[in-house]
Amino acid sequence: MSLEDAKKHVDLAITRDGYKGYSFENTFAGAPSFLRRTWTKDLTGVDLAVTGIPFDQAVTNRPGTRLGPRAIREASALLAVDAPYGWGFEPLLDFAIADYGDMAFDYARVADVPAVIEAHVAGILKAGAGAILLGGDHSISLPSLRAHHARHGPVALLQFDAHTDTWADKDGSRIDHGTLFYKAVQEGLIDADRSVQVGIRTDNPDTLGLTILDAAEVHEVGAAATAARIREVVGDAKVYLSFDIDGLDPAYAPGTGTPVWGGLTSAQAARILRDIAGIDLVGGDVVEVSPPFDHAGITALAGAHVAMALVCLWCWTRRGG
Ligand code: MN
Ligand code: MN
Repeated sequence: MSLEDAKKHVDLAITRDGYKGYSFENTFAGAPSFLRRTWTKDLTGVDLAVTGIPFDQAVTNRPGTRLGPRAIREASALLAVDAPYGWGFEPLLDFAIADYGDMAFDYARVADVPAVIEAHVAGILKAGAGAILLGGDHSISLPSLRAHHARHGPVALLQFDAHTDTWADKDGSRIDHGTLFYKAVQEGLIDADRSVQVGIRTDNPDTLGLTILDAAEVHEVGAAATAARIREVVGDAKVYLSFDIDGLDPAYAPGTGTPVWGGLTSAQAARILRDIAGIDLVGGDVVEVSPPFDHAGITALAGAHVAMALVCLWCWTRRGG
């Protein structure tokens, strides 16, 4: 594509014919849809929809993740120009992946937001597409799990996080980024026996039956053995992967609300995510990226790489040949 052609076709997020192909725009310019995918609300023919959930009113400490989707999209421009390294296939050429935009909601009706998220995700799944969410704080994963459960039944949860997020909420009415997986277990959304929490480094004696591979263990056994253990636990179950960016060490993800030292390196996360290719991923999210606390865009870049890995994992089991 020549510069003269480009003048007629930029921005691909708006003008691309169809959904497939790499980006030829300058990485530092143009409309920043996720991975330069077509921005659309029409999911006809779309395989996988990526959508932003800019909600951050359920946090225990620092806010700011409402700005996460925008920052992750911008960082993702660097990943839109060629094949993902080390995967050996080309999801952006072979699959119709769209940016479904950000979810619309009334920021002043907080209690209504979980139902709005559930309906938003259910709409994507009903259209026959897979859904990957860009958060937002971690509370957004509960309504997403409800929507995925309605379509797929109980799923295996694969969670990367410094925190288990399984603290009790007895009457279930709180909207809280620290209780969502307690509720997911209580509601039967996830199969605890097939679920794994990776990178944990906060104390919570009640595991609810989930397998915990804490950060110390990952550092001890290494990424490859961690991935093997994950595959062993989830087996052939349908998997929902929820990646709280604070699963990474604050050195790799400072821009987040509740950072804890001793976490995964970005290299460990990249290796684990690549090595679990073949799991039956049905959906997932990247949450807790908070740009106001970020430095040099480190955390948004990590979020973009994780989201790309989710795209790769989703496409991997559905690829031909
Ligand atoms: Mn966390
Ligand atoms: Mn979390």
